[in-house]
Amino acid sequence: MHRYRVTPGEDAQIAARDTRDPQGFSGDKTAGRKAMKVLNAELEALQEVLYAEGKQKVLIVLQAMDTGGKDGTIRHVFDGTNPQGVKVASFKKPTPRELAHDYLWRVHPHTPGSGEIAIFNRSHYEDVLVVRVHDLVPEHRWRPRYDHINAFEKQLTDEGTTILKFFLHISKEEQKERLQARLDEPHKTWKFAKGDLAERQLWGSYIDAYEEALTRTSTDWAPWYVIPADRKWYRNLAISTIIVDTLKELGMEYPDPEEGLDDLVIE
Ligand code: AMP
Ligand code: MG
Repeated sequence: MHRYRVTPGEDAQIAARDTRDPQGFSGDKTAGRKAMKVLNAELEALQEVLYAEGKQKVLIVLQAMDTGGKDGTIRHVFDGTNPQGVKVASFKKPTPRELAHDYLWRVHPHTPGSGEIAIFNRSHYEDVLVVRVHDLVPEHRWRPRYDHINAFEKQLTDEGTTILKFFLHISKEEQKERLQARLDEPHKTWKFAKGDLAERQLWGSYIDAYEEALTRTSTDWAPWYVIPADRKWYRNLAISTIIVDTLKELGMEYPDPEEGLDDLVIE
């Protein structure tokens, strides 16, 4: 999974990366699904000890083009975890009140507390992505944001947060199929927004914006991973593996019981 990491200081090279990894898990969906069950159980157990220990904070950032699979990732990767300890924050178009503040103002309250996992479904990165592509603020305002974001994330990690950032990398062709499916399948039409077609026209500009964002903000303390996401089962497997491996490295433990429990008799 290490090959999906954007090495800090190097170009992200999104265009050169697979959306469909030919080596990854030998392309075997059935074996992949089985492995996913094991990973789900592992994550469930790790999240319980994270919550019980109450020391670590974990932040997971999900970014993707439209139809990239952020929602499906949350549903499948966190399947079985306890909703008490996992919270999702979805960042939409900012409200007038949010816009009246600096762009990190709405983000900070959603960062994880001790023992929690917070998942960002879109994030402060929109402020160097959609904002850049649509010229929502002038370049002299958005360009310094890479540095702010690195500093913000460094501050979070200095205060005990582990940060993982995933770009779900789909091909333009795959997006076409997924948009078409949203039109064709009655239970998916609610997800179709005509605006997504206008965004699709801007594919190249978004890739450019992602390229610079990932290059400038993949750091030792908050690395980006570019996940091949054309195949949903593989995307889930890759992200689960990275999260499980990272949580295992935190060396969490259940807290010691109160003293004197051994002799206790419950009447
Ligand atoms: P969805 O994820 O489909 O619900 O769409 C959310 C929309 O909110 C997307 O079109 C994003 O580009 C937009 N959005 C999120 N954050 C920002 C932001 N900071 N500025 C402008 N638009 C944003
Ligand atoms: Mg949408």
